[in-house]
Amino acid sequence: MDLLEYQGKQLFARHGLRVSSGKPVTTIEDALSAAEEVGYPVVIKAQVLIGGRGKAGGVKLAENAEEAREHAGNILGMDIHGHTVHTLWIEHASDIATEYYASVLLDRSAKKPLVMFSVEGGVDIEQVAEETPDALIRHHVDPLEGLSHEEALAIATEGKADADVLEGVADALVALYEVWLQEDATLAEINPLIVTPGTAGEAGGREVKALDAKISLDANALYRHPENQSLADSENEDPLERRAKEEGVQYVKLDGDIGILGNGAGLVMSTLDVVAQAGGSPANFLDAGGGSDAEKIKQAVQLILANDAVKAVLFNIFGGITRGDEVAKGLIAAFDDIGVGGKSIPFVVRLDGTNDVEGRRLLQEAALPNVHVAKTMNEAAEMVVALAAGKGVGAPA
Ligand code: GDP
Ligand code: MN
Repeated sequence: MDLLEYQGKQLFARHGLRVSSGKPVTTIEDALSAAEEVGYPVVIKAQVLIGGRGKAGGVKLAENAEEAREHAGNILGMDIHGHTVHTLWIEHASDIATEYYASVLLDRSAKKPLVMFSVEGGVDIEQVAEETPDALIRHHVDPLEGLSHEEALAIATEGKADADVLEGVADALVALYEVWLQEDATLAEINPLIVTPGTAGEAGGREVKALDAKISLDANALYRHPENQSLADSENEDPLERRAKEEGVQYVKLDGDIGILGNGAGLVMSTLDVVAQAGGSPANFLDAGGGSDAEKIKQAVQLILANDAVKAVLFNIFGGITRGDEVAKGLIAAFDDIGVGGKSIPFVVRLDGTNDVEGRRLLQEAALPNVHVAKTMNEAAEMVVALAAGKGVGAPA
């Protein structure tokens, strides 16, 4: 479950990481009053669940109301790599002396949390890792001990953070680790972690501050964090996935054109593989679970067909406790009800397992237009790939 920058910054603030205060807004007028409130100059930032907003023109500085109006107007509704901007974050602009990078994630192969730090932040961190790997410090943390201040200080020192901000960087790393651990995050990243120029003269020391926030929370641990429940960002979520969630259907949208439905998560995943192997590209993952309930099948079919990209649909059903003839009856009732045959989208149904012969016989007898019956998974995959490509596969069942 990915968080928007401003939501991530709220979690940062909760754990003592320094961030600029600001406001999320959805209109130009609200952007202007927010800017007035935080004080110019402000930075106007697109809130979308994708990085590289700066390069795409989704992060702009404004010195005054005129500039703020122009930038807010340009960024609202902007498409950033396929994500439409509905929300802006307005914060008081920071002066930047230098940009660092920091992150915490779980290194599964080492079975330990991994803290990463670099003084070459701001830019593409993948590029730093590839071209100047020595500039990226990787430090594994003992999960039972946690990250101590001394350890964090050693990371900052090894990473060659400026001497006057070593303590500040260490504090930020410890706080970031706390965010990652206590919020059940799978990733907590700051890029850039900035050092401010500080004010002239002696009293004004340089500050270390998070200018961006990228947090992914473990959705399975959300029940431990009722206060984070509201962060699930329905507006930026895929509308079909949101609808599926509301309907209690296990659905994940994918990029292809072949709708998939199966009973059982493992079977659906193998179906995706087999379709890909046959040269096709799945449009979704959908696990209909057990049962042959026509109502449930109907709901699933409607969800699959709501995706305009879908050109053909594959039903992969394995009869276990749920008998194949029952499933067939559910399918026939659902297809009748929705009038699937009237649509131009062909269906392939593969039915195997308990009472499969009887199930396929029922489907064949129903002679649903545009519904093809297959016995094996490979056969079904090849049929659906051909159908999606606009090729025939012989007479419908
Ligand atoms: P990203 O492009 O999606 O990673 O968005 P960021 O939040 O990291 O912002 C991109 C870049 O905009 C940063 O690396 C900064 O250089 C710049 N930027 C963001 N906020 C400020 C700010 O308050 N002041 C200044 N001077 N630059 C900023
Ligand atoms: Mn960034």
